[in-house]
Amino acid sequence: MQTKSLSIIGSTGSIGRSALEIVDLHPEKFEVTALAAYRNSRLLFEQCRKYRPKVAALYDPEAADELTRARTGLRVLTGMDGVIEAACHPDTDLVVSAISGAAGLLPTYHAIRAGKDIALANKEALVTAGELLIPLSREHHTRLIPIDSEHSALNQCLRGARIEDVKRLVLTASGGPLLDRSKTELETVSVEEALNHPTWNMGLKITIDSATLMNKGLEVIEAHHLFGVPPDRISVVIHPQSLIHSLVEFIDGTFLAQMSITDMKSPILYALTYPERSESRLPSLNLCRLPGLEFREPDPDRFACLRLAYEALQAGGTCPTVLNAANEIAVERFLKGELPSEFACGGMVIMPATSSPLTFLWRHWLLDGQDAYSSQEAALRGGKCSGCRPLAFPERPAGRPGYRRPAN
Ligand code: MG
Repeated sequence: MQTKSLSIIGSTGSIGRSALEIVDLHPEKFEVTALAAYRNSRLLFEQCRKYRPKVAALYDPEAADELTRARTGLRVLTGMDGVIEAACHPDTDLVVSAISGAAGLLPTYHAIRAGKDIALANKEALVTAGELLIPLSREHHTRLIPIDSEHSALNQCLRGARIEDVKRLVLTASGGPLLDRSKTELETVSVEEALNHPTWNMGLKITIDSATLMNKGLEVIEAHHLFGVPPDRISVVIHPQSLIHSLVEFIDGTFLAQMSITDMKSPILYALTYPERSESRLPSLNLCRLPGLEFREPDPDRFACLRLAYEALQAGGTCPTVLNAANEIAVERFLKGELPSEFACGGMVIMPATSSPLTFLWRHWLLDGQDAYSSQEAALRGGKCSGCRPLAFPERPAGRPGYRRPAN
């Protein structure tokens, strides 16, 4: 394998750090051309000292000033333009797109336009603008290689297969830390409980999304775009052991499943070395000591975010974009203690009988439209969700400390 030059966008996050561990493991296969992060100047400084990239970018201008003052000798870029420039560096072969949330869309979009292959961890880019990115990647002959463990599994099971031979894609979900909670118990989950994931060690936002099953909903949308399979042929099963990362059922009744240790370095390694495989030095699965493999149907009543994501995908248009934007804001506020868990779970607990949850999320998004998170991705897709109508914001639920009604 020739040496690949990497731009790691989101290098201080969970996926970015694991990608750099892969570089440590195979220094002969990779060189680091660019590193970009949000605002962790201290860690980026350490990474720059170790990996000697050609450019570094920090989205936050104050953090970028700190890095400049640290005299790395590097050109330090800042703002979204800086992050995009790092992604599109002329020497880069493969961009690891590992920013969390829709903020990762623009660097991914521009990197594809610059003809770069993408190792995609940032599922929100596809959820938000899959209809834009997939044709763009075809037009520019670039590869979108998924890092998300389920999609990496599907990608591996689909190697050499014809998509017309696929009966359905089956995404597995661990079920997260709240799997066995009742609907009432889900109303009062604390941030700590929601972050206590039983099998995966991941970033904050994705861990909350796993607890609400919104993550699996976003992954259904991601799989639809990546593999061109319609939503009614993508199903989800709860698999609490997280050992089978996803399955493909073919029209002849054959299932192919991908199984490996629960460590994100495994799908990251596959994406970075694709189409080849390389030594991972991860512990091997001891088949004879595995726990029983369990599969259950998800409960769409308790975990309405999953149903909501299917609804948004079926509705099409900007609905997935709005769903994603609303979810990002709900999760951010839940993590700050500003929303009770029922909101992070999509507001379904509050008004399941009175309106579509999607409508509620749309309202939520409208109220928070001026948040630090901008609506640029919605603007990219035309800005309006035709199926949604505004609702009155529900009153403060009684007895829930920490919840503040957002200012209108
Ligand atoms: Mg996943």
